[in-house]
Amino acid sequence: MIKQPNGIGNIFKNTITKGLFMATSKCSSCGSHSFEMVTNEPHNSNYKYNFIQCSGCGAVIGVTEFFNIGQILNEHEEIIKKIQDQLNYISSMVYNMQH
Ligand SMILES: [Zn+2]
Repeated sequence: MIKQPNGIGNIFKNTITKGLFMATSKCSSCGSHSFEMVTNEPHNSNYKYNFIQCSGCGAVIGVTEFFNIGQILNEHEEIIKKIQDQLNYISSMVYNMQH
């Protein structure tokens, strides 16, 4: 049996995962434990954002950028590698023409 820290179990709804005692996220406005991501472009903004909000009352608890910068970097790395491979091929062709 997993022992829970004293008192915490009486205050929060908790989840036990892999033997660790973890609190379940809770909306501070309505008490819901369910959240969703909604994309929106706020007024006076030139960019979209992902709002993490309570699915019960819509209270926003976090905001992330719309574009996933890690995914964009990975895509750019692939493109750079393809360009590098093509340059190496062209360089070897030029070298062979000269010799
Ligand atoms: Zn709520």
